[in-house]
Amino acid sequence: MVPDGRSARSSLHLFTLFEIEIRLDLSVMFIFGLIVYSLGAGVFPDWHPQWQAVTAWLTALGAGLLFFASLLAHELSHSLVARRYGIRVPRITLFLFGGMAEIESEAETPAAEFTIAIAGPLMSLAIAIGCMFVVANALGTTALEQVVSDPERGMEALNPLLTISLWLGSVNFMLAIFNMVPGFPLDGGRVARAIIWRVTGDRMRATRQASTAGKWFGWIIMGLGLWELLALKSLGGLWLILIGWFLSHLATQSYVQAFTQRILEPLKVRDIMRTHFESVPVEMNVGEFVDDCLLKSNQMLWPVMEGGRCIGTVSLDEVLPLPVEDRQSTGLRQILRSLDDSGALDADMPATDASNVLAGYGDGAVPVVQSSEVVGLLRGSDILKWLTINQPPSSIPGR
Ligand SMILES: [Zn+2]
Repeated sequence: MVPDGRSARSSLHLFTLFEIEIRLDLSVMFIFGLIVYSLGAGVFPDWHPQWQAVTAWLTALGAGLLFFASLLAHELSHSLVARRYGIRVPRITLFLFGGMAEIESEAETPAAEFTIAIAGPLMSLAIAIGCMFVVANALGTTALEQVVSDPERGMEALNPLLTISLWLGSVNFMLAIFNMVPGFPLDGGRVARAIIWRVTGDRMRATRQASTAGKWFGWIIMGLGLWELLALKSLGGLWLILIGWFLSHLATQSYVQAFTQRILEPLKVRDIMRTHFESVPVEMNVGEFVDDCLLKSNQMLWPVMEGGRCIGTVSLDEVLPLPVEDRQSTGLRQILRSLDDSGALDADMPATDASNVLAGYGDGAVPVVQSSEVVGLLRGSDILKWLTINQPPSSIPGR
């Protein structure tokens, strides 16, 4: 369960389940290929030297598919519990490092946070126990003892279905353990945050402590990876370094996000927008606009006015595609971007929503409108400036 502002850009729609859209990030194709390859070419032929190649590959394919089904079950488990607490979950995206349920808002009580967070690992654990039960039930205790005491000979007794069960069970068991590491934003970090929140009554402090633990955990994994790479000369270390880097990055990012959302919660766009800005008349030509506005000011976007009404905006982006020699003969009307296309925000929009929208604009400015009148301008760095000026430095992440 990783809350993240990223939208579903590089992902495919799969299907809809319990009114939740299930999407597949393209990075999953890579990890799916890797899993099927390592099982079909390495693990299963090792376990079953007597199997034909086609049996090993088909079993690997089945195991890979069921692996992603169990990741989905983990995320659905978070999502359905969140929904019981009245939190909307529009979609789940399966991606490189597992799943990501887009849980729209934060839990309102420590108890809700705790239950939502622990639901995923409990589902993984239930799948692990279920798989082990299937294997134990089919083999009987003596054969099972043989698998444990002499894996090499015992494994041979397993048919493809039981082989998948054994593998899937152990993977889900590891998944449950890994997710319960108490570093935010892993599930265990959320459980820890819920407990600290409950004890101290301070959600922000709980988030800070849980993210710090998450960052440490990421560094420890990176350290282990480095050790594996240098001391054991194993390339598997690269994989650990990547996961560790990703975790520590996520821990910091999640905290900054939680912090920003918390501070911005009571504000509207009108409270944080820039109200000192100039507009330009539509009669102006592009050459005049470049000389008198673009080069003379650090404003990034200008509302274009006609008869007292704003009809669109211009910025450097609209000027650049035009050949320099055409600037004097071209009017602003010919290059302006209509108000609908310029990402205009409503002045009454909650500032938290605006910060999510602006994340998709780089640091470009957007106009702020109120009853189709431009009343301000806003860009991502304005929000950062607002936070810096209005918060004591010690509480700002990264200081
Ligand atoms: Zn989870």
